[in-house]
Amino acid sequence: MKFDPATRIQDLLQFGEFGGVNPSITDSATYTFLQAKAMLDTFHGKTEDYFLYSRHWNPSNKYLAEAMATMEGTEGAWLTGSGMAAITNTILQVCNAGDHIVSSITTYGGTFAFFNNYLKKFNIDVSFVDITDLEVVKNAIRPNTKIIYTETMTNPLLQISDIPALSEISKAHGLKLVVDNTFTPMIVAPKSQGADIVVYSLTKFINGKNDLIAGAICADQEFINELIDLNMGTSMLLGPSLDPLRSSQILKNMASLHIRMKQHSKNAMYLAEKFKEIGLPANYTGMPENAGHETLKKMMNPEFGFGGMIAIDMATSDRADALMEKMEAEGVGYLAVSLGYFKTLFSCSGKSTSSEVPEDIQKEMGMSEGLVRFSVGLDNDIERTFEKIHFCLKELDLL
Ligand SMILES: *Cc1c(COP(=O)(O)O)cnc(C)c1O
Repeated sequence: MKFDPATRIQDLLQFGEFGGVNPSITDSATYTFLQAKAMLDTFHGKTEDYFLYSRHWNPSNKYLAEAMATMEGTEGAWLTGSGMAAITNTILQVCNAGDHIVSSITTYGGTFAFFNNYLKKFNIDVSFVDITDLEVVKNAIRPNTKIIYTETMTNPLLQISDIPALSEISKAHGLKLVVDNTFTPMIVAPKSQGADIVVYSLTKFINGKNDLIAGAICADQEFINELIDLNMGTSMLLGPSLDPLRSSQILKNMASLHIRMKQHSKNAMYLAEKFKEIGLPANYTGMPENAGHETLKKMMNPEFGFGGMIAIDMATSDRADALMEKMEAEGVGYLAVSLGYFKTLFSCSGKSTSSEVPEDIQKEMGMSEGLVRFSVGLDNDIERTFEKIHFCLKELDLL
């Protein structure tokens, strides 16, 4: 049966305490019990439908977790104060000191820094590989490997991970396949393709308003319970729980996610085709000649398109900077990091979101210093937006 995340969310009816069409926002830090024994049982994880303390669970987060799990087709979900917390908590829950991870070399810069620098504290080694080369992935696995880590669509090179194939490799070796799906919510449901744990920065497309930072871990209930175990749960003990007021905000924005994803994709496709017409080297997974196109097609829900992310190569960072400043001045959008906003955002990855990646590794992964990453907005008149970009390119003699 077709996996339909939009309808799954649409069908989720969550009633407010007083009949509100939105669930009531519960912002209590602690929760009362009428029987002392129920409190003890809750401490020992033996009760359901009780709340103890907000760092562990709270009703507002539970509603959003339910929506995230419904969208992803996982048994459960847990919410964090950032995407980085979702990633780091997942890794620290699965791995012990001395373990090993195989990771895509192109990942979000913060993830790369955590893997390459921070995990050394725990003697956890990470092999960075070209995730699209399955032989290389297999050969990187060691006896102490615990995780294969990737992003459905990698940042910023927009490579596509073959999740079913990676899942096969990971199952054959008893590993966990952890997938960051931040760039492609609704477009791909990694769990349905064989991922074990799906992590998100909700800051981006899912919330879509650039007014908060949040993350989610979607997985089976056993893993979620492990994360919030009072004695050994990474999330319970490191304490990155999302603020319930923020949860209730994100929950409401999820209801329009399907419409936004379609519009981001439609606008990005339009720009990619126009960029091709004018001979501008662009990377968009919706183009048939793109290296990841067929792999993405195999996994995606086609109605949501190929996503809102495009990268163009301006060859040098000076040319990239000149273009970005001009585009901002002409009202194309903002020179800013982040993505999934209703306005178009652009940044030069090598000098911003991937600046944690040393320059030699940037070269090794094939990242040009003039790479400009676009998160295409929800523009109603994308033709006009293209004309503005074209004008900037011509004015600056960059074509
Ligand atoms: C932004 C981002 C993150 C980090 O999320 P925060 O919410 O900023 O902590 C992780 N992965 C990807 C792919 C991202 O784009």
